[in-house]
Amino acid sequence: MLELRDLVKHYPAVGGEPVRAVDGVSLTVAPGETVALYGPSGSGKTTLLLMVAMLLEPTAGSILIGERDVACLSEREASHFRLCELGFIRQSFDLLPGVSAIDNATLKLLASRRWREARREIAPLLERLGLGERMHHRSDTLSMGERQRVMIARALSTEPRLLLADEPTGSLDSQRGREVLELLRELCCERQVAAVIVSHDPMAAEYADRVLALRDGILADDEVQRAYAQPLGGLGEPAEDGQARSAVRQAGQATGGADDTGPIAVSTDTG
Ligand code: ADP
Ligand code: MG
Repeated sequence: MLELRDLVKHYPAVGGEPVRAVDGVSLTVAPGETVALYGPSGSGKTTLLLMVAMLLEPTAGSILIGERDVACLSEREASHFRLCELGFIRQSFDLLPGVSAIDNATLKLLASRRWREARREIAPLLERLGLGERMHHRSDTLSMGERQRVMIARALSTEPRLLLADEPTGSLDSQRGREVLELLRELCCERQVAAVIVSHDPMAAEYADRVLALRDGILADDEVQRAYAQPLGGLGEPAEDGQARSAVRQAGQATGGADDTGPIAVSTDTG
């Protein structure tokens, strides 16, 4: 479904060496597979996702989505792809304040459906995401966990083939973070969506089929990748907490430590 071949992004730096944000990443993600890219802050995670979403031009290498080289898409095709075939959960919650959760979730659907139809279609997904009671509430009155789930609903509303999530647990406490990761995994597996979740939070690794370590724009070698990989139970049955975390920690040490915010960063959910 998604194939990256030797993907490179170097940002020019004034009067110095360019920043080698992504430095030759090759990766294949199959339909229905969730891949977690685990790496500290500054390791190139966001840069990688922006290139896959065609929001940033690679310095070199290629991105194939469903065997099509995205470099060959016209701007119109790229826009259609972002709207209909891609779900992108970005770090910033792009919610319209003062607008209900359900109307925020239907924004992408409205490109091809009437308002009522879009609302009817998204409602079961919002229920599934635990927002049944809250869908008519204004987005600015929702907790961070609820806002994140509205973003998931919007990202998945058009039944995309590819889902990208940038630090989806970034602003959630660990319990809410787990709920969100579990839902993402369940939905992507059910709908056969290829998913790439990037995070500095080792917890994300517990909910992935495959875990790869990214450091200084480079995927860690095979040995480290194996150290990260956890034997996962069935869907919704992540590996034992302690087990998975300690393996991820070991791998973190092998690649030189975890994120500057600490190996298990937990921020406060406001509600
Ligand atoms: P992560 O998401 O893992 O924190 P980023 O992809 O945001 O990493 O950044 C990777 C590296 O590229 C960092 O050193 C960052 O400072 C640099 N970087 C990111 N965006 C830009 C930009 N627009 N211009 C220059 N350097 C950038
Ligand atoms: Mg980032």
